[in-house]
Amino acid sequence: MADSLLNRQLGKIHGLGPQTALRLESLGVRSCLDLARYFPRAYEDLTLLTPIGHLKEGVKTVVKAEVLQIASFRTPRRRMHIVEALLQDETGQIKAIWFNQPYVASQLKQHSTYFFATAPKPMDGVLSLIHPSIEDTERATLHSLKIVPTYPETKGVTSRMLRHFINQLMPDIKTLSDYLPTELVKKHKLMPLSQALAQIHSPENDAKLHLAQHRLAIDELISVQMAIHRVKLTSQHLLAPVIAPDIELIKRFLPQLPFELTARQKQSAWEIIQDMNHSQPMQRLLEGDVGSGKTIVAGLATLQAIADHKQVALMAPTEILAKQHFMKFTEYWANLGFKTALLTGSFAMTSQNGHAGKSSKTELKAELKAGTIDMIVGTHALIQEGVKFHELGLAIIDEQHRFGVTQRSDLVNKGHVPHLLSLTATPIPRSLALTVYGQLKISALTELPFGRQPITTKILKEEEREEAYKIIDKEVADGHQAFILTPLVENGVNPDKRSVTEEFSKVRRHFKSRRVGLIHGRLSGAEKTEVMEDFADGKVDILVATTVIEVGIDVPNATVILIENPENFGLAQLHQLRGRIGRGKHKSICILIPGPELTAEANERLEFFARNLDGFKLAEYDLKQRGPGNFFAMRQAGYGGLKIANLFDVATLKKSLTIAEELIATHPDILNNYYIVSQMPDEVTPHQE
Ligand code: ADP
Ligand code: MG
Repeated sequence: MADSLLNRQLGKIHGLGPQTALRLESLGVRSCLDLARYFPRAYEDLTLLTPIGHLKEGVKTVVKAEVLQIASFRTPRRRMHIVEALLQDETGQIKAIWFNQPYVASQLKQHSTYFFATAPKPMDGVLSLIHPSIEDTERATLHSLKIVPTYPETKGVTSRMLRHFINQLMPDIKTLSDYLPTELVKKHKLMPLSQALAQIHSPENDAKLHLAQHRLAIDELISVQMAIHRVKLTSQHLLAPVIAPDIELIKRFLPQLPFELTARQKQSAWEIIQDMNHSQPMQRLLEGDVGSGKTIVAGLATLQAIADHKQVALMAPTEILAKQHFMKFTEYWANLGFKTALLTGSFAMTSQNGHAGKSSKTELKAELKAGTIDMIVGTHALIQEGVKFHELGLAIIDEQHRFGVTQRSDLVNKGHVPHLLSLTATPIPRSLALTVYGQLKISALTELPFGRQPITTKILKEEEREEAYKIIDKEVADGHQAFILTPLVENGVNPDKRSVTEEFSKVRRHFKSRRVGLIHGRLSGAEKTEVMEDFADGKVDILVATTVIEVGIDVPNATVILIENPENFGLAQLHQLRGRIGRGKHKSICILIPGPELTAEANERLEFFARNLDGFKLAEYDLKQRGPGNFFAMRQAGYGGLKIANLFDVATLKKSLTIAEELIATHPDILNNYYIVSQMPDEVTPHQE
């Protein structure tokens, strides 16, 4: 293909130096094609030019005016730099003013005419233009007099810069050839690709913008379909070991549990057991809201596999969770003689007949290979350590927010692949599962275990902190436990360890007679696990924590969680955090104390969260508010890396599926098309070693 867009180097773009290139890379932009597919977050309609005489307060618009005078000075008392310009057109005059932007003075020439864009506001009682953006009337208009795009920005990369860069790609974009054959474009009433890419960055009007968004969403979904198709092609000859059901064993096992399974748990276990009784590899998702009891369902599947002399691997996202699962399964298998192992960065352990003890990694690996270990629990280290199995029958992936095609390809053994079960609290619309993730089957735990009481959520102000502490103290006095969550981003570049420690001291000072613990991301895996176990064993009353406790932690005796600065979290994340309580039969309470700079919008979000306990509703609300297709929101909510497509838009999904099928039938080489391959999501791309 002679498409210049695909071959052009980022470095050839005017104004894009090596440092900016690095920053762009952090936004996922590595090539000109990536840049062309870096989609705006929002648009501002600046098509309207308003004469000065007709300006209205608060209405954003563009003014075309001549600069009569410019003044640049410092205010004596407040030491602020001010640039003032008096502007004029045929209908009147207005003052423009910039604070602390001295360079503006050199940008403007007296008696020249420019475009100024902003919403006029009164300044000392007179309507003025405060911090308007400026654009030359001579040059092509990029930042005004059009529908102006705003991009997701990062430090040192502004929307203004991105507009400038992308504008230089326009000739390449406009001549890009469409990978979709013209018949298909026509038949499905799509906008041609080059037009769609041009319109998304520089829309002529709303109607064209919508067509462009639709076309690009279709492209993205087609890429997903193609990735799935590719996996299907490479995996259709794969076989999994057949696992014969042993219902009698389940019947003997269940009475040992301290609870009765819910109808949904039984149903899901049954679906899984039936799938495993085939040589076609199972690919099933067990979906259930936080606290719905997914672990025991996975346990029943494990029981069946081991009973039929196959091994089971369970992968958890963190060491803490891996250890928790290991302890739980040690308990479950106490009377069955199964040998269970734990393998993570900091642990190598085995257990049998209810007793756990240390082991060495070498020994563990040898036993796995020989088949004397029945079940292994671990983190991703399981894959990295190059573990070999005697015969792996079932792989379980807990809370990965992933659809797990990739992981299995890492676990192929003896020409067999294991059956695969993914556990997730991320709600997946059924329609979506049937379309995009076509070959994935879903079992859903749609109810919480019997006897759970709904969690109450309270939003308190900083002044009401005493009340929050009283609630915590009362719960502890009643023999329960509490989490206090501080809002530090654990995976941030520079996690501020000091302030977790500060929070810890503050809590300790306040709760003098209580046992207060601390857990955060800077502790080693072993340290974290120790703190968590002390908490689980009831040796700690109040645990000050960061988001390291976000997923999976199961301490049913914890009945209260206080979340500081909840506005910093997405709703899906808050829901996970709230899910750390309400896991037993006691009434639980979640307290939110937002920071002082809470916006009205953030407040509304938190109130919605307080009123709703359903993870599905929360995810939907979050995605709607932050805009569908918002890359980061989607990522956070666990919907993978889609940038523009909205997974809740079923009509578009179905259309993309139809087009993908037609494409594959008529143009099988589409699987090698660069435009398609380069936007396949990681989640479904087969792993290549
Ligand atoms: P999640 O689905 O969030 O992974 P878990 O599997 O950790 O939830 O289960 C949450 C808690 O509920 C655990 O303490 C578990 O023992 C308990 N549990 C699971 N199933 C039931 C049930 N049917 N009745 C009562 N408690 C249950
Ligand atoms: Mg869990």
